[in-house]
Order: sequence, then C-alpha cells, then structure tokens
Amino acid sequence: MKLEINNLSVKINKTKILDDVSLGIKEREFLVLLGPSGCGKSTLLKTIAGINYVDEGTIVLDGTVLNDVPAHKRGTVIVFQDIRLFPNMSVADNVTYALRFKGIKKKSRREKAGDLLRSVQLEGFEDRMPSTLSGGQMQRVALARALAAEPKLILLDEPFSSLDENLREDMRNLVKKLHHEFGMTTIMVTHDREEAFSMADRLAVMFEGKIVQTGTPENVLSAPADERVRRYFGRKAVHINEERLTKK
Ligand code: ADP
Ligand code: MG
Repeated sequence: MKLEINNLSVKINKTKILDDVSLGIKEREFLVLLGPSGCGKSTLLKTIAGINYVDEGTIVLDGTVLNDVPAHKRGTVIVFQDIRLFPNMSVADNVTYALRFKGIKKKSRREKAGDLLRSVQLEGFEDRMPSTLSGGQMQRVALARALAAEPKLILLDEPFSSLDENLREDMRNLVKKLHHEFGMTTIMVTHDREEAFSMADRLAVMFEGKIVQTGTPENVLSAPADERVRRYFGRKAVHINEERLTKK
C-alpha cells in the first residue's frame, strides 16, 4: 500500500536521530533503504512500525495518519535481523501466532501455516521446534510469520546480515519471489551495496538522519546527489552498474 512520510523528525534522549525525512513509497514497490551504520535506518523503520515516537511530521499509510495509531493496529510488520521465535512453540504455532487473537480456529491456522511454510520452502516443518532449525530456516519461519499477518507494508531490517554468503543469495531470491507473489509494499534496510542494487526497485540513501537521495539504482549510480553518495558507492558503483547492465 502507499506510504508517505512527510517532514519526519525523531529524537531519542533529546538527540535528533531523524531530521526532516520525507519519502514516498508506491503500492507494491520494493524500496531499499541504504546508508552507513548509525545513520538512522533502523530508527526510521521502527518509527514507521510504531515502536518509536514521532516528534515532528506525519506518516501516512493509504490516507490514514499513523502517528497516533498503536503498533499492532498499523497494518505494518517488521522483521529484525536477530529473529526471536517463541522457543516453546512449534514452527506452525510460531507462524500463525497472531491469528489466534483473531479468533481463527486451530484447523484453519494449521492449514494457513502449511501454505505459508510452503511459500518459504519449509514444507513439512509444522511440528519442528525452533531449537532444531538452522539460522536460515529460522529466518524463513520469521518471514512466514510476518506474511501470516497479511501486512499492508512489510519492513525488513537487515534480514540476512547474520547469514553466511551463499545462504544470503538464496534468501534474497526468496524475498524477491515472495514480494512478487504476495505483492506487499516493502522497505528493506541493508548496508550491503550489492544487495541493495540487486534487489531494489528504488533506493533511498541516508546519511546522518537525512535522506539525501532517492532513485533507481541506475539513477543513483549515474548521478549521485553529492560527494558523500559518490564516495559511498565509490569504485564499487562502476562494477555493480556493469553487472546490472549485462544482466538485462
Ligand atoms: P542504523 O540502523 O542506520 O545503523 P540506528 O537507527 O540504529 O542506525 O541508529 C541511529 C542513531 O541513533 C545512532 O547514533 C544510534 O546510536 C542512535 N540510537 C538508536 N537507538 C537508540 C536508543 N534506543 N537510545 C539511544 N540512541 C539510539
Ligand atoms: Mg540498523
């Protein structure tokens, strides 16, 4: 769904962490938020999800101002890099946890869990306990759980950064496949430039609490907004751009 962030500022302990951020995200868009560590990426996602308070500005999802809407009523869901599954619950119960409170019967929940587990390529994992899963499998369960909530907007905060490189590639492909299948509007944070370029419809580049540039990966590479952006992509930019162009 369509998200508009208008002149958003967020303070933590009186320090301004987000400074006059404006950003629009289109329906079904896959936006990648990119920038150096500490620039405010996680803070922006948490603010959209309702975990941080807004000091100034508005967050508008499909015409509804979210500023005073509690986190669980926003229609957003956030997946963190350090996934926390409920250790004492089966995979199926983890996936459909939120549906219990919607009065959905056990049998339907089990079916839904099966469908979602198939989507994340964990068919037959319903009765496994989290402690028996690998890191990549846990991350897939976390994705299935996020999808179970049927979010209008899914927020992924460096979802692959704890996984090793060959697994990351699989997870990137899986997330793109799910995005295609479910068509949810997505904001994904990464500090990995190649990951950003390979996955984004559009990039938003952040420095020191401000969004300094948005555009397609090609736009950003060919016309960096300022010297910081140019330096951040550096030589890598040339290499990545050639790769993207040859893939097309
Ligand atoms: P990123 O995700 O881009 O690495 P963060 O949004 O986590 O950056 O953090 C941005 C800045 O806000 C950092 O300087 C960080 O130290 C500060 N910050 C974030 N959360 C808190 C918090 N709960 N208390 C104090 N400072 C915080
Ligand atoms: Mg972060």
